This record gives sequence, structure tokens and C-alpha cells, in this order.
Amino acid sequence: MAYDPNNIFARILRGEIPCKKEYEDDFALAFHDINPQAPVHVLVIPKGAYENMTDFAERASDSEIGGLFRAVRKVSAQLGVDGPGYRMIANIGDDSGSEVPHLHIHICGGRKLGRMIP
Ligand code: IMP
Repeated sequence: MAYDPNNIFARILRGEIPCKKEYEDDFALAFHDINPQAPVHVLVIPKGAYENMTDFAERASDSEIGGLFRAVRKVSAQLGVDGPGYRMIANIGDDSGSEVPHLHIHICGGRKLGRMIP
């Protein structure tokens, strides 16, 4: 499926929709989830147009891939969850229930999360 340039995260990247920004660099933007599922719930997205992790792994440059994961690392430290721990989630495809077709890594933490491996 072709990337939809009008998905909500593409619009956030273009500044057309506001977000509660946590972090930004050349490769990534991180902002707070609008419907948080934990005391800390932030989404980290690549600046490039990638639908999901499959698309990203196939088409993104090594710099973009490294940039996204380094941004996750920086955001986790900035939010103070790197010490106590946190969970990264990237939903892919219909079975995952993914809603927004722009790659996003959820960072969830701030409390004991419990087991979540289905
Ligand atoms: P998914 O189910 O993995 O695709 O996650 C999409 C996430 O985006 C959900 O947790 C939503 O709450 C979140 N979300 C949707 N729209 C917005 C927004 O405008 N700002 C911040 N988060 C959003």
C-alpha cells in the first residue's frame, strides 16, 4: 500500500496539527500520545515517510534507522524511564490493531506494566 501523506502523523510533522512535543532532531520527532495508556506514553516517529517498521527496514537509510533508535534512547532518558524501565511497541498491520499508517514507536512507562506478550 502506498504511504498516505495525509495521515495524522504526517500532518503533525508538517505542523498542520499541534502536538505536545517531547523531543526533535534531524531524524525523529517525539510527542505525547493523545490517549495515554501509562503515566509516560510518548510516540517517536521518523521524519521520513514510512508506513510501518516493515517499510522502514526496507527503504530507510542506515542513518535514518540509527537516528530513530538513538532518538528513542534519548527520549527514554529525558523522560526518566530508562532507569526503572519501559516498553517499546511498534504495531504493524491489521492484526496488531495499528491505527495510524506512519511508523511510530510507543514508549510506555512510569509504572509496573505487567506482562504483555500475547
Ligand atoms: P497505533 O494503534 O499503534 O497505530 O497507535 C496510534 C496511537 O496514536 C494511539 O495510541 C493514539 O492514541 C495516538 N494518536 C492518535 N492521534 C494522535 C494525535 O493527534 N496526537 C497524539 N497521539 C495520537
